[in-house]
Amino acid sequence: MTQEIKCDDPRCPIHGRLKTRGTRFAGLVVSSKAKRTAIVKIDYTIYLYKYERYLRKHSRIAAHNPDCINAKAGDTVNVAEARRLSKTKSFAITGIVKPKA
Ligand SMILES: [Zn+2]
Repeated sequence: MTQEIKCDDPRCPIHGRLKTRGTRFAGLVVSSKAKRTAIVKIDYTIYLYKYERYLRKHSRIAAHNPDCINAKAGDTVNVAEARRLSKTKSFAITGIVKPKA
């Protein structure tokens, strides 16, 4: 991100004090209605030995969406694990990979 946007969000992984660690992945934002929160859908596959095929699965996680990134539904974003931020939120968006076409 090269945009110069003022960011005073203490939970921003880039400008704030939030440290990220652990799992990192890319996912699709399906909702950004909640303030500074986005719902990110992650597609993944598991291999079933019995059938020798892959099973497609997905999960939806709540991730912190700082003001300087401000991801919208349809964006593909990078997400990193962080400390627990609320009851359901323990991930933070670290950047937009591909904006909505
Ligand atoms: Zn920021």
